[in-house]
Amino acid sequence: MSLFAAAKFPLEATIPLKRKDVVFRNHPLAKSYLAKVDKEGNIVLTVPRTGTERDALAFANKNREWLEDQRLLALKLLQEATLKPGLRVGDLIWFRGKQVALRLEKDFGRPVLCFAKERIYIADESMDLARPLKAHLHELAKQEFPRVVFRYAEKLREVIKKRVKKVVVRDQKTRWGSCSTSGTISLNWRLILASEATRDYVIVHELMHMRRFDHSPRFWALVEAACPSYRRHEAWLKAHQEELSW
Ligand SMILES: [Zn+2]
Repeated sequence: MSLFAAAKFPLEATIPLKRKDVVFRNHPLAKSYLAKVDKEGNIVLTVPRTGTERDALAFANKNREWLEDQRLLALKLLQEATLKPGLRVGDLIWFRGKQVALRLEKDFGRPVLCFAKERIYIADESMDLARPLKAHLHELAKQEFPRVVFRYAEKLREVIKKRVKKVVVRDQKTRWGSCSTSGTISLNWRLILASEATRDYVIVHELMHMRRFDHSPRFWALVEAACPSYRRHEAWLKAHQEELSW
């Protein structure tokens, strides 16, 4: 099972599509294979009467990159349509795996947004708090994540056998992390909303892609050896995906 596919997250574009990643439609009148992405982000393959699902899949894999772009677009539109209007004082947000309330304090008359031990000076308390919050949390993630990645890379050095060149912390609405063949690990700042253990699982997952660039049983065995509770973290991310994607 794939973390991203299961959670309706983008499939890593460099990994070939398998049967489970697509939906087949048989169409007796279709003259050729057709691949498209529907509004929910599913890849739909039309199989003509004389065709086979296997060839349809091969056709889709030829157009893999284009399909992934379409998929990202569909997921983005879907997300925007379901997005909450904004965050206000009193709202609960996830932070380091716990739900915390957004509070307002005053510092010599200046509004300060507070949650857990964090304090953010804001211009105006009636504004949508998502923006200053995002900026603050993104920055926090940038400060914290790279050293965690390097720590795990060192710990798992014998297994991954490659060096991490760079760690980037990004604002990605639709994926938790990715790993490039050139050794760059990208992480979503939103992982700071999850517990450290869950964040670490995603880091381990991406690091293991340096060893195996697929989601094969062998890949998952490597993940499990390094992070035995990975299923729990995956389930948590999946269950809270929507609450984390503001
Ligand atoms: Zn993966």
